[in-house]
Amino acid sequence: MIKTDAIIIGAGPVGLFAVHQLGIKGLKSEVIDNLDRAGGQCIELYPEKPIYDIPAITECTGKDLTDNLLQQIKPFKANFHFSERVEEVTQDKNNWIIKTNKNKKFTAPNIIIAGGVGSFEPRKLSLKEAEKFEGKSVFYSVTNKEILKNKNISIFGGGDSALDWALELSNTSNVTLIHRRDEFRGAPHTLSEIKKLQKKGKISIKTPCQLTSIEGDKTINAIEIKYDDEKNEKIKTDVILSFFGLIMKLGPITEWGLNIDKKVISVNTNNFETNKSGIFAVGDICTYPGKLKLILSGFHEVALASVECFKRARPKEKFRFEFTTSSKTIQERLGKLKK
Ligand code: FAD
Repeated sequence: MIKTDAIIIGAGPVGLFAVHQLGIKGLKSEVIDNLDRAGGQCIELYPEKPIYDIPAITECTGKDLTDNLLQQIKPFKANFHFSERVEEVTQDKNNWIIKTNKNKKFTAPNIIIAGGVGSFEPRKLSLKEAEKFEGKSVFYSVTNKEILKNKNISIFGGGDSALDWALELSNTSNVTLIHRRDEFRGAPHTLSEIKKLQKKGKISIKTPCQLTSIEGDKTINAIEIKYDDEKNEKIKTDVILSFFGLIMKLGPITEWGLNIDKKVISVNTNNFETNKSGIFAVGDICTYPGKLKLILSGFHEVALASVECFKRARPKEKFRFEFTTSSKTIQERLGKLKK
């Protein structure tokens, strides 16, 4: 069981800044995210788009903002638990206990839910047979490129992920790119590189068609696809990579007894606590009169929530409001002064 002062659910911009606000108050945190990296919507939905309304930053991309937040919270050495979804919450006196889908357990007096629009999960292949091969021969993301070397790989999808991986894996494997439409949505430059490789016979492109069956027992031997004109084709395949985009799921949080309406959690605006003491909701996932789903609103919300977290984690200490410019204690915590 991992003990800490606050468990943060979600490593989007608001969850990341929560680490900072807790950290300057001397509180430790553990961050859990279903994705395999930090950044939430900024990284998953608009990494290269410019944001213009972060105070004092004239312009930055979703990726820049995430990188800067990660840099800013480095001194607090928070532990990140990626690719884990928070499943269960139980109470033990003043503490909350959280269990993830990988059976990791955490305990803390505070939980900060910074879950945004829910955990991002891959949209899966609709073919039922695909389930039994998941994690062995069917993948929705690439976490280990080594296992994909010298294979027959069928890649499904028409967006950037499908195109990028088709291009990259064609160096080491035999790649077939399959899409249900004739047009691809990914970057034109990547597509033109792929078309060049297609001409050289290094990548096959099959459109407009869909997966109809998978052959194999423990591992996949082949797949069958059906074209819009009803023609079928069998393709020798060891691995399927599918990139049909992400869906957002609030998941088991909806069963925690919190006041949830239309996928958002009601909080008070004094400290952004929910109807359960010690469980806070901040960022896009919280609602209150006048709520704006903006990054800067989330930053304000964690500043206030972290004060209440301090009171719960250090009940014998008095909370002292301090400026970072003048507080020696905060500067020590930031590693700016020697202790
Ligand atoms: P998110 O960024 O959604 O992050 C939540 C994280 O929690 C995700 O990584 C998710 O995987 C994780 N999570 C959720 N549930 C669980 C669970 N049960 N277990 C584990 N992990 C979980 N805002 C601005 O202020 N300015 C802009 O210019 C702007 N432009 C935008 C452009 C686009 C295209 C979009 C889509 C949004 C834009 N926004 C903008 C909105 C902004 O991105 C959001 O307000 C912000 O990302 C909210 O941050 P968050 O940390 O609350 O949630």
